[in-house]
Amino acid sequence: MHEFSLMQSVLSTVEESAHQAGAERVTVIRLTIGEMSEVIQDAMEFAFEVLAPETSARDAELAFTWVTPRSRCRACGHEFTHDRYHWSCPACESLATELVAGKELYIDAIEVEFPD
Ligand SMILES: [Zn+2]
Repeated sequence: MHEFSLMQSVLSTVEESAHQAGAERVTVIRLTIGEMSEVIQDAMEFAFEVLAPETSARDAELAFTWVTPRSRCRACGHEFTHDRYHWSCPACESLATELVAGKELYIDAIEVEFPD
């Protein structure tokens, strides 16, 4: 379960940004994750439940945006979207394709509350 270490680094980044902004509480954490990243949403949510109570993001909502994998064919240059298991070129059936999107994992945005 590499989701635990991922969530640990997400939370420390979130805490740092919230602290720098002078925020009191984090209310929403928006994550963008590629479908090829092998990250499992349930595992991320579980890691969050375990780790977040120690942080200012303890009551935050986790929002996920999933990125559909996209590849470019090295043989014919065609660019196409696909699922996690099929990445041969639909135009020429070549398997020499290169992933251009779908492995990302980053914090898209956070929403915070400031002290009164
Ligand atoms: Zn092709």
